Amino acid sequence: MTAKRILIVEDEKAIRDMVAFGLRRAGYEVREAEDCRQARARIVDVRPDLMLVDWMLPDMSGLELTRSLKRAKDTEEIPVIMLTARAEEQDKVGGLEGGADDYITKPFSPRELLARIQAVLRRAAPAGAADVVEADGLKLDDSSHRVSAGEREIPLGPTEYRLLHFFMTHPERVFSRGQLLDRVWGGNTYVEERTVDVHIRRLRKALEPYQLERLVQTVRGAGYRFSTRDA
Ligand code: CA
Repeated sequence: MTAKRILIVEDEKAIRDMVAFGLRRAGYEVREAEDCRQARARIVDVRPDLMLVDWMLPDMSGLELTRSLKRAKDTEEIPVIMLTARAEEQDKVGGLEGGADDYITKPFSPRELLARIQAVLRRAAPAGAADVVEADGLKLDDSSHRVSAGEREIPLGPTEYRLLHFFMTHPERVFSRGQLLDRVWGGNTYVEERTVDVHIRRLRKALEPYQLERLVQTVRGAGYRFSTRDA
């Protein structure tokens, strides 16, 4: 399985370094931002699986950042753990109301932080975040990177695999080409929207021999949807 990506938003370098070190050693892929503006750029660049957000940041409070992320369709699913200083502890209820999934009070031990992260990731995992997702006989096993229909393995290119994985873990929802580019390719790649169509075509072609291409549906004027119901 691919390493989970964690974005740390913290202006104090010493704390950022300490946290980043511990998380990398635990096998996470870590990215860092020192303020909200940088955090936003990082999210567009590579979507994190979880964010650690300090309460006090130079350009905007971590709470405001969290609120705005939780309000936006594209980022509402990203779990957030807020880092608070003891003095701000009375505000933590506010933090949770603002959409944070958990909070941890400084100073914290790396072990404590890791335990919180694991718990939040487990909780945040959508139904499809399990290693194996299945729909109508189509099975995707993320631990072995295998896609199969019954006993037969379906060969897929890396982009088609990522696309199918995204679809299967977000079923019955329409995504525009732009949203798919953001979520599957990562927003900072210079890819044209019609590239999405190319890979959708390839994905359908790969599914065709098993009559499973109907799962990848075109929604006229809107985009694409993965659905086990008829289009
Ligand atoms: Ca701070």
